Amino acid sequence: MTETSHPIPFKAETRQLLDILIHSLYTEREIFLRELISNAADALTRLDYEMLTNRDVFSPDAPLEIRITANTDENTLTITDTGIGMTSEEMIENLGTIAHSGARAFVEAAKQQGKGLSDIIGQFGVGFYSAFMVAESIRVVSRSFRPDAQAAAWFSTGDDTFTVEEAQRDTRGSSVIVKLKPDAAEFLQEHRLSEIIRKHSDFVPFPIFIGESEEQANRQTALWRQNPRQVEATEYDDFYKQLTLDFEAPLASAHMVVDAPVQMYALLFAPAKAERGLFSLRREEGLKLYARKVLIQDYCKDLLPQYFRFVQGVVDSEDLPLNVSRETIQSTKLMVNLKKLVTGKVVETLKKLADDRPDDYAKFWKEFGRYLKEGIATEPDEPQSLHPLLRFHTTTIPEKWSSLDEYVSRMKDGQTDIYYIMGDDEHSVLYSPHLDAVRRFDYEVLLLTDPLDAFMLARLNKYQDKPLVNVASADLKLPESDAKLEEQGPALPVDDYVPLIERVKQQLGDRVDSVRITDRLTDSPARLVDPAGAPNQEMQRVYRLLKEDFTPPKKVLELNPRHSIIVKLSSLPAGSPLEALVIEQVYEDTLLIEGLHPDPVGMIPRIQKLIEAALGQ
Ligand code: ADP
Repeated sequence: MTETSHPIPFKAETRQLLDILIHSLYTEREIFLRELISNAADALTRLDYEMLTNRDVFSPDAPLEIRITANTDENTLTITDTGIGMTSEEMIENLGTIAHSGARAFVEAAKQQGKGLSDIIGQFGVGFYSAFMVAESIRVVSRSFRPDAQAAAWFSTGDDTFTVEEAQRDTRGSSVIVKLKPDAAEFLQEHRLSEIIRKHSDFVPFPIFIGESEEQANRQTALWRQNPRQVEATEYDDFYKQLTLDFEAPLASAHMVVDAPVQMYALLFAPAKAERGLFSLRREEGLKLYARKVLIQDYCKDLLPQYFRFVQGVVDSEDLPLNVSRETIQSTKLMVNLKKLVTGKVVETLKKLADDRPDDYAKFWKEFGRYLKEGIATEPDEPQSLHPLLRFHTTTIPEKWSSLDEYVSRMKDGQTDIYYIMGDDEHSVLYSPHLDAVRRFDYEVLLLTDPLDAFMLARLNKYQDKPLVNVASADLKLPESDAKLEEQGPALPVDDYVPLIERVKQQLGDRVDSVRITDRLTDSPARLVDPAGAPNQEMQRVYRLLKEDFTPPKKVLELNPRHSIIVKLSSLPAGSPLEALVIEQVYEDTLLIEGLHPDPVGMIPRIQKLIEAALGQ
């Protein structure tokens, strides 16, 4: 490092960010303070972590704190921490490029959307550079924790370059000295500063002081270590918002204080929305993991199964060894125990949400139901613990979410199975001929139209002792029901349907596996089912998703011998043009209803001919 500094250009990305920030008309500029405090807290966290294993740091006894001082003569605001500090090389590296993931997302979004974005700067958490919204210039003076390091100073007015030079500093850590623009003088007022700290940085885990005051400006609570009975619901919401930068309060929160088999505290949250995307501070999955209040890992993925990755929160355990490395904790027995406890709590909290606030649970299901289906498909040990959390639309109540318990409570006398139907969308599935047979008995059917359902069903074949059964399977077993069949009128006699089957086969050729008669249909003239030995419908859906070139096996066309279309078809003169039209149309209708029709619009010329025939030309 030379004594005299020479200007160093910012990286292109950083220049773009600075340009947006300096010219932004964003009204809530106060968030710059949140960002600088958050950097100071990170620097303190890193020092705290370093000191777990290394006492050879510069001034090891300096208290870990943040101090904010305003100088009205100079128009400067200084944020000082006793954290890890930076060497001159680190300053060049860290304060010349964009390190902050939120800032990078912001620049990306800005490139795509143009100027309007300055309205939402606050939601991105753009980091250090946000101070240029209020600064004429910024000077950072820092001394690294390494005992032999030199102090250094970084300076920039926010144009294309910055400088770094040697400096004097007797204490460990950094001071960010913001020379305020004339229109930003409000940030020199102590009451304003204290208001901003309360609003945005109340839960920062180190004490923040203003001016010379010894009174702490933030609550600095490890909220999770408090007695749950003394915490207000709004405090959980505030904590969640400061943790994630979400606007919306979480849908559910849980506070755990456990003494055995392991000691732990946790705060867990189910967000209101699955898509928080760009706006979230916490862009990675995982929970914050503390050991005795020291942050060990910002995104610990080993505390919950993958399918609960939407859960946000903090876990803190007295039992975690402090000298543990981030890499080795994941394999410890303790982590396995923690994971079990935390996972159990999430399930319990969601059940409680479902019981106490069904409307909120419906919102939750809409956002996160797919994660639970994934859970059923992937949970190795106890997928049944997730069963009570599942929700379905059904043929009886297509517009509301029902649980499997509710389905069971509505089962008819003599009904032993839980029925479901699969399809591409809930509307068309209601027209499916596969529903005819169960409708005769007034049985309720779950509507499964999400691609993930096929994966879920691979491991959900029973609820409690009741099998889940696909109504489309050719060997569906239903009670004997001759009486019900008779109600629908006489069936075509064998002498008539045997030749009909031959004629249909001839017309369709090898487009179908075979043609046969069924007594499963009521309102529909025909349906398609899989031939014996073919992979079941669930597996076919899985293949369809996983293999691009998957062709479904040829189907069996089943005809309803009591349906008037089939009855009349059998009496048409063999080989008449109308016969071919009707057979083709009946067949293509079944393709359409199964979501297999390659070209629905292509049916129009034939339909027109059929209309002409109906009108008698
Ligand atoms: P982020 O904090 O998300 O990494 P910033 O742009 O806010 O992004 O900061 C860039 C980097 O500068 C930080 O990652 C950190 O290494 C360093 N830094 C910023 N403020 C401080 C500070 N007060 N003490 C030590 N290092 C800091």
